[in-house]
Amino acid sequence: MTAARTDALVFFGATGDLVHKELFPALQGLVHDGGVRMPFIGVARSPWTTEQLRARAKDSLEQSGRFDPQAFEELAPLLHYISGDYGAPETYVAMRRALGGARHPLLYMAVPPSVFPVVTDALAGAGSTEGARVMIEKPFGRDLASAKELNRTLRRHFPEEDIFRIDHFLGKEPVQNITYTRFANPWLEPVWNRSHIHRVQITMAEDFGVKNRGRFYEEAGAIRDVVQNHLLQLLAIAAMDPPGGAGPDAIGDEKVRLLEHVQPLEARNVVRGQYRGYRSADGVAPDSTVETYVALKLFIDNWRWSGVPFYIRAGKELAMRSTELFVEFKRPPRDLFGETVPPGSSHLRMRIGPDIAVGFGMRVKVHGEQMVGRDVELALTSCPGDAHPPYQRLLSDAMAGNKELFARQEGIEASWRIVEPVLGDATPVFSYEPGSRGPVQADGLTGTDGPWIDPAPPEPTECR
Ligand code: NDP
Repeated sequence: MTAARTDALVFFGATGDLVHKELFPALQGLVHDGGVRMPFIGVARSPWTTEQLRARAKDSLEQSGRFDPQAFEELAPLLHYISGDYGAPETYVAMRRALGGARHPLLYMAVPPSVFPVVTDALAGAGSTEGARVMIEKPFGRDLASAKELNRTLRRHFPEEDIFRIDHFLGKEPVQNITYTRFANPWLEPVWNRSHIHRVQITMAEDFGVKNRGRFYEEAGAIRDVVQNHLLQLLAIAAMDPPGGAGPDAIGDEKVRLLEHVQPLEARNVVRGQYRGYRSADGVAPDSTVETYVALKLFIDNWRWSGVPFYIRAGKELAMRSTELFVEFKRPPRDLFGETVPPGSSHLRMRIGPDIAVGFGMRVKVHGEQMVGRDVELALTSCPGDAHPPYQRLLSDAMAGNKELFARQEGIEASWRIVEPVLGDATPVFSYEPGSRGPVQADGLTGTDGPWIDPAPPEPTECR
């Protein structure tokens, strides 16, 4: 058990995509903004040197547009590299040597899930789990049984308070803004329920494909990659009850309770798609049925949400890149002015990326003699993007032992229970064109609830 502050970071999978994309910018931020000074030790099998790791960090910062020469000078000497097999005791002897006097490392598993248990067991065999914290990437397991098994492996060697299960959406500023907006504006609470809300939509649209990550994606697909974790976490934040008390567990408790009340998915409420061209990507089987798109309808079995549909769409190679939560209030019970108020006129839109925005939709009268209206959206706040990488916040919290922004095992298990009935080939996969809105079959899913409401295009502006 460790209550001490972290004094070193060891990251396994140092040569990988995630470390390049997310970790190096976060480390530069920690060093430069947070004044963090500790060894950052990368471990992987590739026969690299420390100099190569530093060059890789520089490349990552340049590519992400965050390279700051002064900050990099502070970061580079802290980076060290160990080449070795994840299961070999010598790797951990070298790790201990590199740790020097550090006794409370944060051990970060940025390796494929199949390698998590190999590293954990080898760390324990080398006596290197004592006094350490462990941070583990999503996906946490491939299904409910493997998530439980992985948890048992971790719990054999680490107490619960030292295990940090990452879902990096939870470290995003705009995701925290959803929680904030809901509970800092008490007038929302009386209308945040089945009496006033028609439906809720969550969209995660990407305008790019699997790139060079085909082999990884073949084992995942959209449901495992983003629905089971990121998008169900968003749903939980959007739909949970107000937290009681102010303890660090209050919000986590409510999210878990909510997820436990989501009904498991039924095949008739799921449409899977695959973009044309996916099968020729590197590492993808020529007859793959893995989904690069999914649209689904969920129900929450509690007093607040009974009967309200929650729609989720996630896909690659779509017409735009945007992630947003769209809460659609009910239409008027009668069309009083001889016009039909369109679905979605009255709404709250919370965009999470690529820009950050909160918009409030209303129907207002057009000037003139006729009682005719138009839809307007009041931009309550908007910002070009996250100022700090989400991993900077998450690493800093894990180093301080703060678990508030990390996923909980009960929530992870509840999420697997929700998606498990539709994993794999439980439903057919339909083809769609790159640059489209996904397979046309998804349009049939919404029925009388009204058509899908597509994300609004981002409006890059100054932060306000
Ligand atoms: P990579 O495939 O890039 O793997 C990371 C590193 O792990 C590789 O550089 C490799 O290093 C080592 N590795 C790869 N395959 C194996 C293997 N079969 N056995 C042992 N070592 C292996 O993965 P990512 O960096 O993309 O992802 C790492 C983890 O983070 C995964 O769990 C992923 O699901 C998760 N994740 C990734 C995201 C991303 O955007 N990339 C986003 C969110 C989560 P070497 O061969 O040098 O040892």
